[in-house]
Amino acid sequence: MASTPPLSDSCLFCRIAVGEIPARKVSETAHFMAFEDINPKAPVHLLVIPKAHVPSFNEIGELDDHMAALNAFIVQLAHQAGVAEKGYRLCTNVGPHSGQEVSHLHWHLLGGRRLRFEV
Ligand code: AMP
Repeated sequence: MASTPPLSDSCLFCRIAVGEIPARKVSETAHFMAFEDINPKAPVHLLVIPKAHVPSFNEIGELDDHMAALNAFIVQLAHQAGVAEKGYRLCTNVGPHSGQEVSHLHWHLLGGRRLRFEV
């Protein structure tokens, strides 16, 4: 990723990343941001995004240089949200069969209660 991330004007999460659309931001680094999901499915429901426009996990290779930092960011976030010890779910939807609604790579970090597994 370049230091000025490539953005897609029409992408909701790109616009959140640059502050054009407000979000309840909980953490950020130069390359990643975490904010509260607008329609939470659990007591803790955060979204983790790269600030650069990466459409989905299929293009995760674009983040190769930043994966260690991403992993550390997510673990730190889980501690900050108070779910690291009891546990949480981290998932990313890819494409129409998964129900991916926003075509900007994001992980859902869900926790705060015992979660069911539904597909
Ligand atoms: P997905 O279905 O995996 O693409 O997830 C998209 C998620 O983005 C959903 O859980 C939505 O509730 C969430 N979402 C949509 N718009 C916003 C927004 N403006 N701020 C925060 N979360 C949003």
